[in-house]
Amino acid sequence: MNTVLVSGCCGFIGSHLCDFLIKKKWKVIGIDNLLTGNIDNIRDFKNNSNFKFINEDICNKILIKEKLNFILHFASPASPADYLKYPIKTLQIGSKGTESMLNLALEKNSKILVASTSEVYGDPLEHPQKETYFGNVNPIGPRGVYDEAKRYLEALTIAYHKKYNLNTKIVRIFNTYGPKMRKSDGRAIPNFINQALNNQNFTVYGDGSQTRSFTYIDDTLNGVYKLMLSDFTMPINIGNPTEHTINELIKMITSIIDCKSKIEYFDLPENDPKIRRPDISLAKSILKWKPEVKLKQGLVKTINYFR
Ligand code: UDP
Repeated sequence: MNTVLVSGCCGFIGSHLCDFLIKKKWKVIGIDNLLTGNIDNIRDFKNNSNFKFINEDICNKILIKEKLNFILHFASPASPADYLKYPIKTLQIGSKGTESMLNLALEKNSKILVASTSEVYGDPLEHPQKETYFGNVNPIGPRGVYDEAKRYLEALTIAYHKKYNLNTKIVRIFNTYGPKMRKSDGRAIPNFINQALNNQNFTVYGDGSQTRSFTYIDDTLNGVYKLMLSDFTMPINIGNPTEHTINELIKMITSIIDCKSKIEYFDLPENDPKIRRPDISLAKSILKWKPEVKLKQGLVKTINYFR
């Protein structure tokens, strides 16, 4: 049996990854310090004999006795609300935390895949965003702590690949959503669903014309898994190229949930990207991957979870 270490195992994506890999017959060691992760997310498999949980901060030196075949580095606050609350910690997890995971991969002679984000493109001036686009990020803006942490994570990962010939992979994830997101996560989909379910007004930042390309978690997991098994070392976009405005997202949610909520408009946060859509030609050709779940289908599943 192959063994994989998943950092951020109690987070939204991390916990789904553990579940997915246990089902694919991997032995999984999950690590999380529960800063923004939720222990309930691993409840279904916490006692599985092929799973082991370590409650630890990856910025510290991590000692693992077992042989490791793979590391999936997914630990980080990821919601704007979280990284505004933990700005320094977010930078440390992207820098010290990533260095610690890369050193562990070297020590264990294991492969490593690190989670990056569409945020590396910032408020993009190129649309859709191809992996070759360098991005438009304000390093000292409120989102800089996350965007620059992830840009540094990519730079460090490629440096380990070039200097030590470490087998590395980098996934740029675009707005993934689904069950196990926290109610109070702060991101658009959990916020709007929970507002609709409680007949509270929708909190739209700006005029709602900004766009995002939302990817259902199952599609993201399949993309990450295909990347894990590939030989590709450069960053690759995993996202759904169907783009929606925030107003369209709310319309779709209200077509599923019967509610009395009205839209209330608030100021758009500084540097909030106005458009976002992945170019996924690379994932299609290299990984033979494309998303299968339409936004409405994914929303129905997510709404059922929150109900
Ligand atoms: N957004 C909003 N109301 C909310 C939460 C988010 O209008 O209650 C907007 C946010 O300003 C952004 C978009 O929805 O333009 C997506 O936000 P999210 O936090 O989900 O992801 P990110 O901005 O990191 O892509």
